[in-house]
Amino acid sequence: MTATEEVGFTVEFWRRESKKARSISIRSLPPYGVEIVVPKGLSHKFVTKIINQNEHYINQKLADIKNRNFDIKPSNIFLPATSKVFDVTYLESGAEVFSLKKTNETIILKEPKERVSLITNSKLLQQWLQIKAVSILEKAVETNSKKLNIPYNKIKIGSRKSIWGSCSYKKNINLNRNLVFLELSLIEYVVTHELCHILEMNHSKQFWSLLNESLPEYQKLKKQLKSDANSSIPSWALI
Ligand SMILES: [Zn+2]
Repeated sequence: MTATEEVGFTVEFWRRESKKARSISIRSLPPYGVEIVVPKGLSHKFVTKIINQNEHYINQKLADIKNRNFDIKPSNIFLPATSKVFDVTYLESGAEVFSLKKTNETIILKEPKERVSLITNSKLLQQWLQIKAVSILEKAVETNSKKLNIPYNKIKIGSRKSIWGSCSYKKNINLNRNLVFLELSLIEYVVTHELCHILEMNHSKQFWSLLNESLPEYQKLKKQLKSDANSSIPSWALI
């Protein structure tokens, strides 16, 4: 039950049985394909019927994925805040276990040939990214916290896809690790924005004037973050 097409990598759809799922769901998993999640125990006939009924939708999603240019096997990774380009080397491996080795600044990734290896590639690169992001972003928060004299409690670096940062009433700062694909000035904007929330929780007039005092060019950076931030993030970081 797969529709495959060669586009440098394979785009396909597959079904997965889930104990947790209560209903059939169809979701796009770029760049790999479309996943159909099926509650455990549903008859093959019924599932096939649903898939046939949604054939047009599934094909549209597959075409979407095919037409977009995904970078899932980067040959190098640039992190602007470090001014460094990290080379990635892919080694074919017969072993079922994957590993990510770092020798100096080169990332060596062993991979088998199956489809899942692309997902695993991304997950391994994300593990590497997480470590880099923690050191880059923690430093940015510490530096700006001292500069602005706004102490914080804890920092958490995560992978939330739609939010760059948030601040809790406990003075904890949460940052999206994909910030490290952005210029340092944009990282600084997000960090300063969240630090200001420690003093002003809402987007009140006082908040914006505090932010303006802390970072006078914030309006320009805010616009820049909206306009070009998403396109700076490679596909492998978003899987
Ligand atoms: Zn805010």
